Amino acid sequence: MKIPVGILGATGMVGQHFIKFLIDHPWFEVTWVGASDRSAGKLYKDATSWRLDGVTPANIANLTVDECKPSPTAPKLMFSATDASVATEIERAFATAGHVVVSNSRNHRMDADVPLLVPEVNADHLGLLPLQRKNRGWSGVIATNPNCSTVALTMALGPLKQFGITRVIVTTMQAVSGAGYPGVASMDILGNVVPYIGGEEEKMQQETQKILGDFTGGEVKFLDAKVSASCNRVPSVDGHLVSVSVELSQKPSRDEILAAIHSYQGEPQKKNLPSAPKVPVQYMDAPDRPQPRRDAERENGMACFVGRLRECPVLDWKFTCLAHNTIRGAAGAAVLNAELMKVEGLLD
Ligand code: NAP
Repeated sequence: MKIPVGILGATGMVGQHFIKFLIDHPWFEVTWVGASDRSAGKLYKDATSWRLDGVTPANIANLTVDECKPSPTAPKLMFSATDASVATEIERAFATAGHVVVSNSRNHRMDADVPLLVPEVNADHLGLLPLQRKNRGWSGVIATNPNCSTVALTMALGPLKQFGITRVIVTTMQAVSGAGYPGVASMDILGNVVPYIGGEEEKMQQETQKILGDFTGGEVKFLDAKVSASCNRVPSVDGHLVSVSVELSQKPSRDEILAAIHSYQGEPQKKNLPSAPKVPVQYMDAPDRPQPRRDAERENGMACFVGRLRECPVLDWKFTCLAHNTIRGAAGAAVLNAELMKVEGLLD
């Protein structure tokens, strides 16, 4: 029998991505959907404007939307995609009531006792959960995934961490789907680039230091590297493209960096998790790849693609990387986190 799961904020854009990503999942089945009191009491199909390709999945369409409040019918495992203005309160209420909340919202990402996971890079940060339970007196827990642009950067930097990352300069070209629906006005983005995404640069800088930090047993010691991010919204649909320059204290050669990328495997690969890409960081040799339209959907949208590795005249090396923002940067990331938590016995 599959593990029942609920989705908080199921009617929104990320909620819909969760529903789509979980169709035919081998372990999890969506049995409960929650949203605001504007939607509660309605059938999912009546409460939701389905914005993804195809129609609302039949097994979800006739579920009745619940309020985002703990109740006896809510499953233990809850994915959270609620609006950030209400996520803090809602996620804490569910964790207090004993639920495992796997959140996509930004609200708890930087809390010292909350894991901010990219399972290939920092699966051991799950070690924060016993501390979180103790600190907060919760019988449940909250675990989070990063911002959609941070995922691409940290997956690409994962193989390079062994060389001693000391400085990173990053410029993003972020797809419109990252702004949700309706997102950026068409008059602003068609044939244009908007060189500002509120709060994004700070998130990218801080989350990267936490994700690439070391779990010491009692806390995460942040990566001692300077990270400078410039974030831009561009008129691509899906897939955040990121240009990265990095300084590495051990001064590896190009071949050593490529070997580290090619051999990179994390816990999701070792444990053969259902949503894990077989090769998490894939190097593309063609000089004009990766590209959002051509590459973001490969590997079910769950891999990070890297290309154009070359010497940087300012730092040491520079390259381009890409990840699918609504899959690897949102719903797929949270599902992979929950799969890791299952095999670690954290859903029992
Ligand atoms: P959205 O489309 O506006 O959906 C928000 C969801 O939250 C809806 O289900 C909405 O329910 C629900 N909600 C709103 N107010 C509520 C309340 N008072 N109580 C309970 N539920 C409430 O937003 P989104 O783009 O999916 O983003 C959801 C979260 O994911 C946000 O925290 C966002 O920062 C984060 N995120 C988004 C993206 C992205 O690509 N869009 C990427 C990464 C992270 P109703 O339909 O009933 O209003």
